[in-house]
Amino acid sequence: MGTTNNRAYNFNAGPSALPLEVLEKAQKELVNFNGTGMSIMEMSHRSKDYEAVHNEAIARLKKLYAIPENYEVLFLQGGASLQFTMVPMNFLQEGKKASYILTGVWSEKALKEAKLFGEPVISASSKENQYRNIPTSNEIKFDSDDAYVHLTSNNTIYGTAWRDFPDTGDVPLIVDMSSDIFSKAVDISKFALIYAGAQKNLGPSGVTVVIIRKDLLEKENTNIPTMLKYSTHADANSLYNTPPTFGIYMLGEVLKWIENQGGVPAIERNNVEKAGLIYDVIDNSKGFYKGHATEDSRSFMNITFRIADEELEKQFLAEAKEAGFVGLNGHRSVGGCRASTYNAVPFEACKALADFMVEFQKKHQ
Ligand SMILES: *Cc1c(COP(=O)(O)O)cnc(C)c1O
Repeated sequence: MGTTNNRAYNFNAGPSALPLEVLEKAQKELVNFNGTGMSIMEMSHRSKDYEAVHNEAIARLKKLYAIPENYEVLFLQGGASLQFTMVPMNFLQEGKKASYILTGVWSEKALKEAKLFGEPVISASSKENQYRNIPTSNEIKFDSDDAYVHLTSNNTIYGTAWRDFPDTGDVPLIVDMSSDIFSKAVDISKFALIYAGAQKNLGPSGVTVVIIRKDLLEKENTNIPTMLKYSTHADANSLYNTPPTFGIYMLGEVLKWIENQGGVPAIERNNVEKAGLIYDVIDNSKGFYKGHATEDSRSFMNITFRIADEELEKQFLAEAKEAGFVGLNGHRSVGGCRASTYNAVPFEACKALADFMVEFQKKHQ
């Protein structure tokens, strides 16, 4: 492998790289957590030791992301994909409309679920442009009567991301932040609900973070299954039933790591710099590498690109694999190449990939 510590250059799209320090600490604590003589996985979720981990993770998440008092942080299961269902199940009444902005496969999947509960309307879409861009604010139409507006902040598959979020006024803005949560500072007060599977930027798969404004809880449909109701989990501090305890512990450790890096602003600066290394190679390649996203919609988390010659693209992926780079194949639905440069992907790995790309072009153009 490429690095000094036998760690792969991991550009996986999700699950994805975790900070080495976090993995090593978890390894150390694995069989005897905090002198309890057992793993965090082996103890009651009602125990003092676990509850401290749980509450500290919530508190740290609120602090690091500057989450206002009138929001709840929930740890749920079922991934972001279950949120596609829970959002309309809780907040879209029969006969009511909600606006969905389509910017990729994940927003399409969210729309599909909403159709089971009410009348979602596509309020803007970049599908005709192969999802290369994010719609501009004047393209986005919604109704003041809408139950909510839904969008995907970072499009993991196409490599696009919102720069500025639309102002939806009194209409709740609901956002899937699975692939860019905690990658940059955001003004939480713009959103009514944020959800994210943990496995891109926050920890292992199995935990889903939900940040929900408390007034939205009052609008929730009542006649729905207990486990699928947000208030069930808000009322029980996400301890209504057994939560994914190990995943929450890991998430808490990743948040400590973010804190030690200097918090979200420092993480954001790193991410811009890391992605910049690779975008610079694409932009200076005289068309050898072609970015998928239009420049003003580029993601700093997922960098999608192609090589004009298909055979050469295959060779690029094969040689990159040989050189120790992992996860550079584009999503199976779109092909091409994708480098996911999430928070925990080290600068060193991005630099190595940028250098590799320059060398590959020199050899083959
Ligand atoms: C990965 C991803 C999902 C799917 O998440 P699961 O936790 O596997 O359900 C949804 N939305 C976005 C933006 C993603 O990146």
